[in-house]
Amino acid sequence: MTLYEPVIGLEVHAELLTQSKMFCGCAVVDSTQAEPNTVTCPVCTAMPGVLPVVNRRAVEFAMMAALALHCEIRPQNVFARKNYFYPDLPKGYQISQYELPLAVNGYLDIESAAGRKRVGVRRVHLEEDTGKLYHIAGASLVDYNRSGVPLMEIVSEPDLHSVEDVRLYAEGLRAILRYLGVNNGDMEKGVIRFEANISVRLAGSDRLNTRTEVKNLNSFRALVRAAEYEIARQSALLARGEAVVQQTLGWDEAGGQTVARRGKEEANDYRYFPEPDLPPLAVSRDWVEGIRAQLPELPEAKRQRFEREFGLSSYDADLLTRERAVAEYFEQALAAGGEPKAVANWMLGELFRVMKEQNLTLEQIKIAPAHIGQLAALVADGTLSSTLAKEVFAEMVSGGAPPAAIVQARGLAQISDAGRLREVIHQVIADNPKPVADYLGGKDGVLKFLIGQAMRATRGKANPQLVGELMRAALDARRS
Ligand code: ADP
Ligand code: MG
Ligand code: ZN
Repeated sequence: MTLYEPVIGLEVHAELLTQSKMFCGCAVVDSTQAEPNTVTCPVCTAMPGVLPVVNRRAVEFAMMAALALHCEIRPQNVFARKNYFYPDLPKGYQISQYELPLAVNGYLDIESAAGRKRVGVRRVHLEEDTGKLYHIAGASLVDYNRSGVPLMEIVSEPDLHSVEDVRLYAEGLRAILRYLGVNNGDMEKGVIRFEANISVRLAGSDRLNTRTEVKNLNSFRALVRAAEYEIARQSALLARGEAVVQQTLGWDEAGGQTVARRGKEEANDYRYFPEPDLPPLAVSRDWVEGIRAQLPELPEAKRQRFEREFGLSSYDADLLTRERAVAEYFEQALAAGGEPKAVANWMLGELFRVMKEQNLTLEQIKIAPAHIGQLAALVADGTLSSTLAKEVFAEMVSGGAPPAAIVQARGLAQISDAGRLREVIHQVIADNPKPVADYLGGKDGVLKFLIGQAMRATRGKANPQLVGELMRAALDARRS
């Protein structure tokens, strides 16, 4: 059997979370915030004679993303007209960037099972989104509210060589954009969209074979399934000695297959030319350095710091840093006195379980981060056993009260008073003469049973470690 290696490059479109559109003052809204075609103006509906003005914040957001991806920001970049006709594009062209994009030559590192890999980022550029088409009951309707929303395109090198690489790169990119606050990553709303360029070649070869391009992949699942499907389809073609046809494909989610859309356009089909209504965009060194200075700590750096500073495993550190809100929650919990490993366990175990079960985000859940820290501290200082702590946690979920208040109100505190525990133990010894005799006769295993009886007598509230010590001491005292 011949072995084929996939070669994949991703184009990622992300709407930018600016207040206003790319070239006019209209607000950026989503379909839940405004009726169709109510947030438009002569500029974004392409009335004759209007002039576009570049949104400074959009440029800064794209610069943030580009810098986070280690790109060079070009001091002079140029907007271009990409000409094509489609009903969602009122101007008959899209303002984009072509030969001279905002930023080039970056990379994103991914951590795959096979180790760390560097994926090249060819370019980051700015453009405007199109309107949105709805096909309803035999009619096609268009909403121009999205027309002119700032859109950033991030194009990778064809450096991805497995479906796992594709997923890690796409997830990594989304995490960075969310950390930066330039995109909210909501794939269901289509604010981040993937296109996969896919070819296959003989393993070990370094040539680039004919590729297909799968458009409009709106979830990680669709992205992964489409890539798997294309890799299998193209490998089978090559194995039969047939050629892959260069084309643009769509993904049929229900049928689980790619479907032909149209022949692939070449760049010259778009008749690109520099946008005559906009001067070249000059980006000064000072502007770039000012933006660089504002970048937050990014997921990768945070993960490494969490391992180093808190002694977490790379697995835990990874889970805690994928979302900025989770990482911040963790650090706030630590500030309330929890031990890092204990707080990590509470968050990755109970907290995430409840969020998943009740379909809640971290912002929606009632438990304040400080309360998780306090809960971990109550276990660490012996006030709560781990069993009781879970009961307290359940009540924190439903009521949102601080753990100490719940312990007080329900009298849940663990019994660590040796005097009280000795009384319990003496009663257990008195009530169980046979097991006690067995233990004294050398059956060490019986100790567990006797400890269990003491725990039962306190309805689980006794400090189990202390009960063990006191029980052994009480029994051993009977030997002499
Ligand atoms: P366009 O899609 O506009 O023609 P490019 O030619 O720049 O743009 O390529 C777009 C994407 O296709 C990039 O992500 C690039 O890495 C990827 N790509 C280019 N050639 C191949 C290939 N032979 N196999 C897989 N991906 C490729
Ligand atoms: Mg393309
Ligand atoms: Zn407008």
